[in-house]
Order: sequence, then C-alpha cells, then structure tokens
Amino acid sequence: MPLDIVILGPPGAGKGTQAELISEDAGIPHINTGDMYRAAVAAGTELGARVKPFMDAGELVPDDLTIAVVGERLSQPDTARGFVLEGFPRTLPQAEALDEILAESDRELSVVLHFQLSDEVAEQRLLKRALEQGREDDTPEIIHRGMETMRIPEELGQHYRVKVIPARIHAAPPLQEEL
Ligand code: AMP
Repeated sequence: MPLDIVILGPPGAGKGTQAELISEDAGIPHINTGDMYRAAVAAGTELGARVKPFMDAGELVPDDLTIAVVGERLSQPDTARGFVLEGFPRTLPQAEALDEILAESDRELSVVLHFQLSDEVAEQRLLKRALEQGREDDTPEIIHRGMETMRIPEELGQHYRVKVIPARIHAAPPLQEEL
C-alpha cells in the first residue's frame, strides 16, 4: 500500500524538516507546492509567470491552477509508493480535489500530520529566521499578515477530522527553550 502523507501546519512549525526525514526514510518524494512555484518562477516558465503575482502579493494561487499542478505532479511514476505533501491542501476545495485525485487510482490518504503551533511561537520563529537570513523586509507586521493568509482554515481541519484521524503534533518545546 502506498504511503500517502499530508503535512499541515503554520509556517515555522518544522514541516519541511520532518517531511524531508520521512521522504528519505520511506523513499518517497517530498512535494512542496511553495517550492514548486518558487522553482517555476526562478526558471521563468509560463507557470512561474502565472503564479508570481499571487506570490508577490502574499496571496494564495487560485485553486484551479494549484489543483492542476498537484494533480500533474502526483501522476508522475515516482509517487507510486507514496508521497509527502507539504503546503497543499490549503483550502477545502483543494482537499476535496486531492481526495478525488487519489480515489481515481484507488488510493486514499494514509495519514494527515497536523503540526500545532501557537501564533506567538510561529511568529517568533519566522522573525528569527528572517533576521538570520538577513531578510530585513520581513518585519513583524509582514510576518503577521502572512500568517493570516497561510492559516489552515477551520473547515480544512474539520474535513480531515471527519475523513481520516489526523495526528496532531505539538510543534513547540516549552516556551523558555524557544528563546
Ligand atoms: P509557501 O512556501 O508554502 O509559503 O508558499 C509560497 C507561496 O506559494 C504562497 O504564498 C502561495 O502564493 C503559493 N502557494 C503554495 N502552496 C499553495 C497552495 N496549496 N495553494 C495556493 N497557493 C499556494
């Protein structure tokens, strides 16, 4: 049976790190829509040109485009034994489309790992990351606004609470270790 994994959670929760570990351990691809879009922009492809305005504005790329991109990626042979999907789904229509894509090949999600992190800790981590990477334009206000756009909608969490049993992972150590 394929190992089809979705990782949900706010930026700064360590999703990418864990996705990489699982991907290496299980020998399945780590698919991150944000990375795919950044690569398309960097390569100057037609897709890159379509998504860039949304990314620059800190908005989600429209569902129909994102669903088509993910559908195409999941049809690649390297996903036969499974995948770790990060950054998708972010909306209920995306989650429903993913269910349909998988059902077409008699598959369903094995597990949804939902990383839980308070806004405060997530914002602290993003601010620290921005400072470390010298991204001075990432001010607390910009980070705060980005968090709002990227918040996992309640209806998406609810979809998975009904469909699969999500594993809720506490993604922060006690607060003093964070500082
Ligand atoms: P991320 O690295 O996950 O923050 O994604 C970077 C940008 O790519 C986001 O700000 C969105 O514009 C776009 N993006 C990534 N994943 C999605 C998605 N599932 N739905 C819509 N837009 C997305």
